Amino acid sequence: MKKYKRIVIKIGTKVITSKDRGLDAERVDEIAYQVEAAMTRGIDVILVTSGAIGAGMQVLKMKKRPADIASLQAAAAVGQYHMMYLYGEFLKKRQYNVGQILLTQEDFNDRKRYLNIKHTINALLTHKIIPVINENDTVATEEIKCGDNDRLSSLVADLCEADLLILLTDVDGLLDGTGTLVREVPEVTAQVLKMGGKSHCDLGTGGMATKLEAAKNVTAAGIDCIIANGKERHIITRIVAGETFGTRFMGKGDKSLAKKRWIAYSSRPKGTVSIDDGATVAILEKNKSLLASGIAEVAGNFRSGDVISISDKKGVEIARGVANYSAHDLAKIKGLKTSSFRSILGSEGPDEVIHKDNLVII
Ligand code: GLU
Repeated sequence: MKKYKRIVIKIGTKVITSKDRGLDAERVDEIAYQVEAAMTRGIDVILVTSGAIGAGMQVLKMKKRPADIASLQAAAAVGQYHMMYLYGEFLKKRQYNVGQILLTQEDFNDRKRYLNIKHTINALLTHKIIPVINENDTVATEEIKCGDNDRLSSLVADLCEADLLILLTDVDGLLDGTGTLVREVPEVTAQVLKMGGKSHCDLGTGGMATKLEAAKNVTAAGIDCIIANGKERHIITRIVAGETFGTRFMGKGDKSLAKKRWIAYSSRPKGTVSIDDGATVAILEKNKSLLASGIAEVAGNFRSGDVISISDKKGVEIARGVANYSAHDLAKIKGLKTSSFRSILGSEGPDEVIHKDNLVII
């Protein structure tokens, strides 16, 4: 049996809300009980929880999920407080404090903010405080979309170097075409992803498709993943004790490539550079850095330090990397040799527009 040291548990809206009654306090109590049990065994626990919108809808007596973003955000603002209160109270009863962290994709795009999240989570865990994470729904219009917290939990699991991600939902796991539970997935292939179908939305967001994406991404980071039914009694405790539940995905990738995964997956590109054939060959076949001389077009409004996308002449994305120059400066030096940078930009910068150490082939 594998011994886990740090686990991220994602709790879906349908797990902690019950139809018409809003937040299910008993369920939160049971989760708190299991968190305590895991912490007592020396396992660090990080919670990523949905349910703010569902809880807010109940408090505000909204019968249907509002169609407009502002009302959804209002529901989230109200519901987040009620939800945190429950987590806080039930964990306090067990001598644990909680630390609320609200994140958006933007926080993962910026390397400094990304590292700050990591340090904060580590500090909370050092003090035996349970991080309780949700999306910052009130500011993240783009993020109130299907699948956010599945993706968010996978980003958090990678960032805090967890060894297990448990996605708790209201079904038993991944079902195959005949409706049979798939117990183990050795690799999340394109065929497996197809089994997830389309995502659906109602109270929460997401669906099997976004869970499979999350599983794909964490397993590539060497993290195991389990999709299981959060309504099963003591599910977390039993998984941690080695019982078989739901669908298990085995972590395979190399944990040490964290920065490359941040470039390729955790952040979202702020712009694109199109490059010529010579630079495409240099990057794809010779493992070289990207130089300004190979750049034909610059699009987007990025700063030095942002992740950008690199596409070939046909517009196909071939790589991503951290830009050493802003879009503004790159537009001036594209196609030129390094020796001319100083006279054009007024200062000397690095030879590479994207250094090969900060570049990932897609
Ligand atoms: N952040 C949303 C909420 O708390 C849920 C997003 C999701 O379920 O993926 O209600």
